[in-house]
Amino acid sequence: MINRVCIQRTGLSRSSAISEHHSGTFIDSIVKGMLSLVNISKPIRLDQSLTDLLPLSGASATMIPHEPLSSDQYPPQSNDGSAQRPDKPEEACGVFGVYAPSEDVAKLAYFGLYALQHRGQESAGIATFEGDRVHLHKNMGLVSQVFNEAILSQLPGDMAVGHTRYSTTGSSRVANAQPAVVETRLGPLALAHNGNLVNTTELREHLLKRDCNFVTTTDSEMIAIALGAEVDSGKEWLDAAISAFGHCTGAYSLVIGTPAGLMGVRDPNGIRPLVIGTLSGNPHRYVLASETCGLDIIGAEYLRDVEPGELVWITEEGMASFHWSPKPERKLCIFEMIYFARPDSVMHDESLYSYRLRLGRQLVQEAPVDADIVIGVPDSGVPAAIGFSQVSGIPYAEGLIKNRYVGRTFIQPTQSMRESGIRMKLNPLKDVLSGKRVVIVDDSIVRGTTSRKIVKALRDGGATEVHMRVSSPPVTHPCFYGIDTDSQDQLIAATKSVEEIAQQIGVDSLAYLSWQGMLQATGEDPNNFCSACFTGNYPVLVPELVKRSKLMLEKEKVVTV
Ligand code: SF4
Repeated sequence: MINRVCIQRTGLSRSSAISEHHSGTFIDSIVKGMLSLVNISKPIRLDQSLTDLLPLSGASATMIPHEPLSSDQYPPQSNDGSAQRPDKPEEACGVFGVYAPSEDVAKLAYFGLYALQHRGQESAGIATFEGDRVHLHKNMGLVSQVFNEAILSQLPGDMAVGHTRYSTTGSSRVANAQPAVVETRLGPLALAHNGNLVNTTELREHLLKRDCNFVTTTDSEMIAIALGAEVDSGKEWLDAAISAFGHCTGAYSLVIGTPAGLMGVRDPNGIRPLVIGTLSGNPHRYVLASETCGLDIIGAEYLRDVEPGELVWITEEGMASFHWSPKPERKLCIFEMIYFARPDSVMHDESLYSYRLRLGRQLVQEAPVDADIVIGVPDSGVPAAIGFSQVSGIPYAEGLIKNRYVGRTFIQPTQSMRESGIRMKLNPLKDVLSGKRVVIVDDSIVRGTTSRKIVKALRDGGATEVHMRVSSPPVTHPCFYGIDTDSQDQLIAATKSVEEIAQQIGVDSLAYLSWQGMLQATGEDPNNFCSACFTGNYPVLVPELVKRSKLMLEKEKVVTV
């Protein structure tokens, strides 16, 4: 049942006939590369002509020709090949939406995604709505690599939906890039998803029974198709969305564009964040973003969070709010606060920098150590290191310099470069470290491989003692809600004691922050957070099949692009 808390508009417009916008020349120009850029709601044969394909793909979508690299030219961000996997939990995705007639919504979305780039570096996409037509561009790569002025100028409209992706379900390839666009009887929808469903098998079976077909391998496409199926059964957008979410279990923060309006949605536990802002000087022009840093960059003002189990519906008449879940229960991912979200993003009325500072202060109370300098592992360990320094009185110093100017490279280092350690990312400052007893503070340890290299680099730099302090508890369980934390057997703390880990990474001493200390530092009710990767207490039941592989949908893929 819809619980209407506040509504500032009534009367939903139904879309009119869809206008098509493509020509033979245009079609020819996209034959080689664009198949992978279209989310198609029915299976395709690779020998099928594009004039056959476009009606299936939502003919209202205007596609921008370009020449994307094939998916195998882009190594995955971390999915496969443990030797190349980052030794950190990897964020799922960043989502962004803006409703602002008469503004350059594509450019606003571009900068919003630019600020959310840390949430996913594999692919990026923007869909804009111009009445009943959707214009879509997405590709593999960083936001700055996927878009340029010319492309953005071909994305007109009153509303935009944007996405930057790291693959947590489905492998790293162009077809899985978002937003996912699905055609419905009310016109196209474009969906951007942050999180992970845990009931994809049931949902897929449910949708197959309704004769739905899939092209990508993502749970996000399933949500879009579920919503499309509800619309096609005769429901209007809001009822259709609420029916569709009833079939979705897990973590999902969504931004959904439709010809009638823009939706922002959080799952009943609010595991992934989603905030609402208004454009400066125009309180009726709304922005949705995974984090407040996505608002700041375009000068939007933070209004509030989308609540767990809430749907906000933004149209020309304002923003309406619907609390659609019968049992919302706040379970924000604590790792968002410790590490994933940017330190300048605001959660619970303060910057995450301030929270991370408190983690460091708590850490020194729990695990003091005698040393000459405190350094943080750039960048995420720095606030806690400063907090550690403030309370311990040990001077804070920069002992590791991060190469901030390269962005993500798709060129793989040589084997010898890889073996040489972490120097591509972090370089030790010998004149700072030489002869010093060093406390190195990091936000987490996952596999321990990077920690070992950092410790070696510090010793090579002349440190006489290296003491590691970690501003979160040991990571002992994998995440199934949109964060890639490796399988349990890869998590060093799942199989080794603190002493054994200390020995393996080569430190003189090692200590983690306690679970209680981490939650106490939030200043909030500890029950308001998911901390399952530290405890194994998952707030949403995870089926065994999901635990086995995040790539299980790969086995059932419909088409290879
Ligand atoms: S399991 Fe860990 S990473 Fe996943 S949502 Fe919960 S706290 Fe966040």
